[in-house]
Amino acid sequence: MASLGIPQNTIEVLQKYHFNFQKKFGQNFLIDPNVLERIMDAAEITGEDCVLEIGPGIGTMTQYLCERARHVISVEIDKNLIPILEDTLAAYDNKTIINEDILKVDMNRLAEEYNGGKPMKVVANLPYYITTPIIMGLFENKVPLKSITIMVQKEVADRMQEEPGTKDYGALSLAVQYYARPEIVANVPPNCFIPRPNVGSAVIRLTRYEVPPVTVKDEKKMFELIRASFNQRRKTLVNGLGNARNLNLSKDRITKALEEMGLSPMVRGETLSLEQFARLSDLLYG
Ligand code: SAM
Repeated sequence: MASLGIPQNTIEVLQKYHFNFQKKFGQNFLIDPNVLERIMDAAEITGEDCVLEIGPGIGTMTQYLCERARHVISVEIDKNLIPILEDTLAAYDNKTIINEDILKVDMNRLAEEYNGGKPMKVVANLPYYITTPIIMGLFENKVPLKSITIMVQKEVADRMQEEPGTKDYGALSLAVQYYARPEIVANVPPNCFIPRPNVGSAVIRLTRYEVPPVTVKDEKKMFELIRASFNQRRKTLVNGLGNARNLNLSKDRITKALEEMGLSPMVRGETLSLEQFARLSDLLYG
């Protein structure tokens, strides 16, 4: 099968199979060889890598991955794409296609089965409607990973890199920065996809830390605090956390912890760094 990175080949496949795009699955297929090469370079795929691809579509990026990696596991939710993938990837025997919802797949088991439990690389042009749950699922389930190189909505890529005090800084920025070093490697305009998305896109590489940049006694509690802080973003931390029923913290206790950190009781969560959230969590739960 000819390279699907070339738009004409993609159009031929879509016509041959009378494929109907499903908006609900966030289907925007890449049709730009330069962008595909860029993603491969950023992910630094070598013949030793086992790659997990989320949402292969008609197999465009999968072809590039199969050319470079030792093994590629592609998880696709849309059953109509499975016969197409069998066709477009027929030349490769280093692939496994799984027809499943990625949010229901046990990714640790995949790493075990296809890579002896060693770290895999995730490479994907993600379905934008579930970007955050996919990323959080990879991190929170402790899937063994070297890196995640993904196409996401530009705004979401920016959010992952944000620093405290900016308007887009939030729970996603903190979670990503706790687990990985984020780096935007390319901005990608809508005309690189078929059909064109309504938003700009970016490729971001998240390189997994072996050891997180801050130490905290109870990681789970820290993320509960972070989520509660940004759920009520416009409130002071004392009110935001004090009102969060699941935390069961008195306003007095929060005020004291903030004082101990040299912070005003009027401070908002959006100004705290990852390090400060870790310290606050240790003071409240340590
Ligand atoms: N990788 C292809 C490309 O670059 O041309 C397609 C990318 S498209 C943005 C997203 C793909 O993810 C679609 O093929 C869609 O059907 C698939 N998808 C959507 N939701 C999914 C889910 N929950 N689990 C697995 N795949 C999903």
